[in-house]
Amino acid sequence: MNFALVTGGSRGIGRAICIKLAAMGYHILINYNTSQQEAETTLQLVRGQGSDGEILKFDVASQEEIELSLGQWQAAHEGEYISILVNNAGIRKDALLMWMKNEEWHDVINTNLHSFLYLTRHLVKHMILKKWGRIINIVSLSGVKGLPGQANYSAAKAGMIGATKALAQEVAKKYVTVNAVAPGYVRTDMTQDLDETQLKAMIPAGRFGKPEEVAAVVGFLASAEASYVTGAVINVNGGLYT
Ligand code: NDP
Repeated sequence: MNFALVTGGSRGIGRAICIKLAAMGYHILINYNTSQQEAETTLQLVRGQGSDGEILKFDVASQEEIELSLGQWQAAHEGEYISILVNNAGIRKDALLMWMKNEEWHDVINTNLHSFLYLTRHLVKHMILKKWGRIINIVSLSGVKGLPGQANYSAAKAGMIGATKALAQEVAKKYVTVNAVAPGYVRTDMTQDLDETQLKAMIPAGRFGKPEEVAAVVGFLASAEASYVTGAVINVNGGLYT
């Protein structure tokens, strides 16, 4: 069986990625932290694609929770490995830098960037040994361009882009690819508080994106056809920034 782990699979872009990878035949490990009901809905949607999955609860900012959960999963699946990792879970805690609290900085860096280290380091070893893997990091326009009010979030996402490029070169010979997808404004819970009417006037496509439009790119990067694409950052932003 081919296993794909999607962090933050309970809602938004993560849920759309779970559905896309399920449609490609993957058995989906749906991670969530607080939204259990939403994670169960994602599992139903995964099953609706004719595939199956399971739910893994852990806080991506906690190395201990990750080690425990993945350790238990591995013990129950001897000889199997997770061949696709989508580092998607993320949070925003916006503030102008001069007013930013240490906590707002650290929470965003821990959840959005340190999670990359804990999860990827754990899983990439198996991908290298099995000589096939896909690591896909969901970054952001904010990490490519920088956005005011998001120095913490921009730093975390830009950090993940640097790590994507570095790791891609470390593992390329082992048939493991590492890429980043950088969405612009996508309609999810995360962007609910934004003024869509005002912002969409700046977007050449004239609208916010849909989670499925990000998931389609993830699906391509996860596929066998994308074997020569690595270290790339693919913008999915309606032409807002290139
Ligand atoms: P949502 O707020 O809609 O969903 C966030 C998801 O992340 C939820 O499933 C949530 O799970 C999970 N999550 C948050 N914190 C943790 C944690 N500590 N441990 C485990 N899971 C966690 O966000 P989006 O779907 O919009 O965003 C998904 C990714 O895309 C993020 O990395 C975000 O930065 C990025 N992105 C989004 C854009 C947008 O416009 N929406 C634009 C650019 C990038 P739960 O509720 O169970 O805690």
